[in-house]
Amino acid sequence: MLTCKKIVEQSSEYREGNMTLAQRLNFKLHLYMCLHCRRYLKHFETTITVASQCAKKSLPDAEAEQISSQCKQRSSAIEPLKKD
Ligand SMILES: [Zn+2]
Repeated sequence: MLTCKKIVEQSSEYREGNMTLAQRLNFKLHLYMCLHCRRYLKHFETTITVASQCAKKSLPDAEAEQISSQCKQRSSAIEPLKKD
């Protein structure tokens, strides 16, 4: 089974679909068994979504502050990854 460190390293390839079927199955197997990596991947997706939204348009200060605040709240709610 993949380690948590490998999941972090391969997150971009997984998200972009740049994996073989076997690699993708191994990745998903780890996610199925590891709550920490599921949380990491969800946070990773949120970060990319927010960053791409910010890149597309200039946000009013109030909206930017609201998004920043939500990111901080979510980040503080995520438990640190356990070391393998
Ligand atoms: Zn993991």
